[in-house]
Amino acid sequence: MDDREALVIDTGFNRDSCYKTIKGASDELKVKDLRVFCTHLHADHMGFAAKLASEVLMGKTEVKIVQDMMTTEGYWEEMVNFYIRNGFPAEEARKMLFLHPGRSFYIKEDVEFVAARKDVRVGGIRLKAIETPGHSPGHTCLYDEARSCSSPVITS
Ligand SMILES: [Zn+2]
Repeated sequence: MDDREALVIDTGFNRDSCYKTIKGASDELKVKDLRVFCTHLHADHMGFAAKLASEVLMGKTEVKIVQDMMTTEGYWEEMVNFYIRNGFPAEEARKMLFLHPGRSFYIKEDVEFVAARKDVRVGGIRLKAIETPGHSPGHTCLYDEARSCSSPVITS
């Protein structure tokens, strides 16, 4: 296994403390090729992915959703309107727009979202990408058939 290649599976919120923890570990391990795979689009799983890599691997369903989300003008305002239409108190729904951690700690940088192939390889490990919808529409797990374990894991 190449000890200079690593795959971070899910990052954390886009906060300096989260970034410094992962980046520090990567530097300590002398990782040369750091890639990022996000199991789903929530901010606590991909918030600072763009600070670690120029492209982010995800399941293909999640890639489509996150691309729409990041390029659709008024995405968050429409979410608030959705809540109001479905009975959420308007004032509380509008407060949510400013307080929601998904908005505050989401990716701010430009990044390319890439649909993971059937297999994701890191070092000598082959991880099988399997969509497991439920928590999000295209939530995806990585399964290491050789070791019979699945994400989340950090490997190098
Ligand atoms: Zn989530």
